[in-house]
Amino acid sequence: MGVPVSQMWTVASYVLGQKLRGRKRYPLVLMLEPLFRCNLACAGCGKIQYPSSILKQHLSVEDCLKAVDECGAPIVSIPGGEPLLHPEMDKVVEGIVARGKYVYLCTNAILLKKHLHRYKPDKHLSFSVHLDGPREDHDLAVCREGIYDIAIEAIRETVNAGFRVTTNTTVFNHSQPERLREMFDTLMEMGVEGMMISPGYQYEKAPDQEHFLNRNQTVQLFRKILGNPKKTWTFNQSPLFIEFLKGNWQLECTPWGNPTYNLFGWQKPCYLLQDGYASTFQELMETTDWDAYGRASGNSRCQDCMVHCGYEPSAVNATFGTVSGLMTSALRTLFGPGRDKALPAAPAPAAMPVSPPSLVSLQLPLRVMAQEELEPAIKS
Ligand code: SF4
Ligand code: SF4
Repeated sequence: MGVPVSQMWTVASYVLGQKLRGRKRYPLVLMLEPLFRCNLACAGCGKIQYPSSILKQHLSVEDCLKAVDECGAPIVSIPGGEPLLHPEMDKVVEGIVARGKYVYLCTNAILLKKHLHRYKPDKHLSFSVHLDGPREDHDLAVCREGIYDIAIEAIRETVNAGFRVTTNTTVFNHSQPERLREMFDTLMEMGVEGMMISPGYQYEKAPDQEHFLNRNQTVQLFRKILGNPKKTWTFNQSPLFIEFLKGNWQLECTPWGNPTYNLFGWQKPCYLLQDGYASTFQELMETTDWDAYGRASGNSRCQDCMVHCGYEPSAVNATFGTVSGLMTSALRTLFGPGRDKALPAAPAPAAMPVSPPSLVSLQLPLRVMAQEELEPAIKS
């Protein structure tokens, strides 16, 4: 199991093409938000707090496909809200697939079984199911009992129907490493193609403000979760992004790598912050003050952020832009995880240096390396 070679090739050739053209900023994954309404109300969600007049609306199929064409990214991720509540989501997906793009349709899976007949298995389409932990933990995170069982049943049925299925997991300060590791085992046994894991962002609008992680907590937690990974686990993420989460690799945010389009237009600067909107993709790229974002900028809203939509594209860029980045990614592919061992304490946030700017991700189905495997390859 793993990401199709055709997808890896598409992304790799796209990134190399951008580099050959000397483009400093380019999109890798379009975050297409066709609507904000959802059939859940998770405590850590920063997307569903709009007034009902906004929640009732959705982007048309034409608007969605126009954004896909305008952006040009090889991968389209469709988060929400709950995309399956869109009355024509199958048409949106069909249009993206027809363009040869790879689409990740994110869902909490409540409607997945019911709507599955509207979709055809295709190497360009993957359902990305939201799962924040095993039964008790996931139901707590989404504030409703029984959702974990619904999601697991839907995953089983979707895999059996021949679709690509991935999962996305958001980690908070109450997440329990051992229980997450058990869930990874379960998902891999079920035939999930790959898993995505990311810390939650401190949305000011989220009802629960107590369980977000600061940067140091993120590193410590991810070291516990992924410090001694199993050979059977496959992550649908860039190897360097995972090493970044474990504090082993320094990256700076590249928010233009995952541009966001929604009901309001092209969101500045990223999927998480809302500092205005542009009416075209070109306007977004040209009028956003990119230097005002990322950790190095000193922007207080960016200091604890280690979220995939800001750092996955940085990781992909580093993979193709530096010898050490390529080497570390290659090492992960070639060698299995080593023995578990005590990990050193992560540097305090203020002391963590940032490297020059270097997605959803390259989507390489690479394994997570144990700390000791990486040490020779990593410049501290
Ligand atoms: S399922 Fe996703 S969009 Fe819906 S409330 Fe939960 S986090 Fe928000
Ligand atoms: S660091 Fe996070 S919040 Fe700041 S621009 Fe990047 S992705 Fe957005």
